[in-house]
Amino acid sequence: MSSSDLTPPPLKNDCFALPAGAHWAPVDEVYDLLRTRLDVVVGRETVPIGKAMNRVLATDVLANRANPPAANSAVDGYAVFGATFADGEHIVPLIEGRSAAGDPFQGKFTQSEALRILTGANMPAGADTVILQEDVTLGDGEIAFRGPLKPGSNARKAGEDFNTGDVLLRAGRRVSVADMALLAAAGVSEVELRKPLRVAVLSTGDELAEAGSDAAAEQIFDANRPMLLALVQRLGHEAIDIGRIPDDRETLRSALDRAASEADLILTSGGASAGDEDHMSALLEETGAMALWRVAIKPGRPLALGMWQETPVFGLPGNPVAAMVCALIFATPSMGVLAGQGWRVPEGVWVPAAFDKRKKAGRREYLRARLRNGKAEVFASEGSGRISGLSWAEGLVELPDDAIDVTEGTLVRYYSYGEFGI
Ligand code: AMP
Ligand code: MG
Repeated sequence: MSSSDLTPPPLKNDCFALPAGAHWAPVDEVYDLLRTRLDVVVGRETVPIGKAMNRVLATDVLANRANPPAANSAVDGYAVFGATFADGEHIVPLIEGRSAAGDPFQGKFTQSEALRILTGANMPAGADTVILQEDVTLGDGEIAFRGPLKPGSNARKAGEDFNTGDVLLRAGRRVSVADMALLAAAGVSEVELRKPLRVAVLSTGDELAEAGSDAAAEQIFDANRPMLLALVQRLGHEAIDIGRIPDDRETLRSALDRAASEADLILTSGGASAGDEDHMSALLEETGAMALWRVAIKPGRPLALGMWQETPVFGLPGNPVAAMVCALIFATPSMGVLAGQGWRVPEGVWVPAAFDKRKKAGRREYLRARLRNGKAEVFASEGSGRISGLSWAEGLVELPDDAIDVTEGTLVRYYSYGEFGI
């Protein structure tokens, strides 16, 4: 059939501008929505502290016991009553016996005398100060030293670190290596935790092959699924691998069914636009609880947010760079809320740019970046298919929604990957 009447549409002079009338949600608006609409979805369980590492506290943790529980010595030396010894030289009799860690002095301490004491040993009642052994000449049953002494020096007071009943850690905190020392020191043997957030991950696309498989020329290896599974695990959540799903609506539908039955949150990548093969957004639209976010972010559109059988779904973009940026910027703090940690976004640090870039108003922009010599360098290409840049980078530079003309030395905000928790 002839189609001689068929002519291409004229080029619009605003063809690279954002569509008129359509609302592009700024990142902060999406943040407000996520922060206010999402809530914790996981239950609680009581767990011994040996199994609490990297898990989320469901309640504040209080100290079972003070630290230190009794006044003790910070050094090896001689315990005295500090105020007894003014300026000048002193020769002081030694009390028979000593106080050692775990083996305190049992006799009677007198404030005109000194008692041998070792690091970590309880102070005898009546003593408040320890003279460092290096500051003493030891004689036969006596010591010589120079005053004055600073009362309280080299001794630790009972409860100076924390007291019984003090709040040590707040609900929502992910238990860290340091927290293990704190909990144990406070005599806490078990804690009430949030159950792990279960996050299902799937990739969509007929072009995707499993890494290492015999891929045809028209196929690419699925990069997003391994990245998202690793992200979920790294953040301390439980990752559930739903696999690669072809661009077929019914197959995707049953994959979402399975994901919703096994997980508290579903992360997908690809198929989130409004094209013929964008089944992710089409299915979420079907449920009626879909928000296709025209988010004013680069890289990163489209981002499809929806519900599938009461389970929230983040339909991330297919481009691996956009998928990872959107996962860090939107999915990571959202997972924190669902997991009981509350909403937290990184602070970032302001550092001088080592690059030039002129940016128009309208979209917040994230550049793959790293710090070298105190300055932020950015990856040579901004192409959202350049996966190598994600690994080259050690974080992201955020450029504001407004226009900005960055030249070398302009202060820019840098978030290290570590600040996102990865
Ligand atoms: P889509 O959003 O499905 O249109 O995908 C956008 C681009 O990202 C296309 O070039 C896809 O081939 C690519 N892409 C989608 N999913 C993945 C994935 N899991 N791994 C690597 N590239 C992907
Ligand atoms: Mg696709």
